[in-house]
Amino acid sequence: MIDKLLSYIAPHLCCGCGKIGMLLCDRCKYDISSEASLLCIACGINLCDVGVCKDCDVAYSRAWCIGERSGALQRLIGNFKFQNMHAAHQPLASLLIDSIDQLPKDTIVVPIPTVASHIRERGYDHTLLLSRQVANHHGVQLRQVLSRATTTQQRGASRAGRITQAKEAFVVRTHVDSSAPHLLIDDVVTTGATIKYAAESLRQAGVTQIWVAVIARQPLD
Ligand SMILES: [Zn+2]
Ligand SMILES: [Zn+2]
Repeated sequence: MIDKLLSYIAPHLCCGCGKIGMLLCDRCKYDISSEASLLCIACGINLCDVGVCKDCDVAYSRAWCIGERSGALQRLIGNFKFQNMHAAHQPLASLLIDSIDQLPKDTIVVPIPTVASHIRERGYDHTLLLSRQVANHHGVQLRQVLSRATTTQQRGASRAGRITQAKEAFVVRTHVDSSAPHLLIDDVVTTGATIKYAAESLRQAGVTQIWVAVIARQPLD
């Protein structure tokens, strides 16, 4: 409702071509979807058709990623994460939904928990918003199974720093239904450490089928 009202005052511009009226026009959306990457999201090197390669020792067995963090996708993510543009969750969620196959009805969607200070800065929990849309679209449950064990922030940290921070970042805070597939949702994968340890926490809690869906992959240079 607020987004709709605001759009009359300051109409949205397409993050791809600048066309007035929406944050991502159909044509630019199609361009992003058609460039979907087949690279493993864990190593960013091997090609694979399930999103994660056999060489990567991770607790998840399937991964979906919209694409590389560049161009229109990068601008959309920037608006969503750093410009407090709540409405950007809709085109991002829609791209994510389009990239995911059918989910079994007992799937549980689990957002990667956002650092509390970032929720306060933005006024919304960005991974929760995305997760809710994915769960609603597929008619499956959403459960905030994980929480952050520390308040350490990732932005700006070195690669080694990110890995050690992420290692101790999650705790399973509620009883899990270990027989149900769990789909973790995150925004950007950089080293892959965050989702690796989030998935590991779920596995330690007894979950056997763990999948991951992310907006974009960004190689750390
Ligand atoms: Zn466009
Ligand atoms: Zn790999």
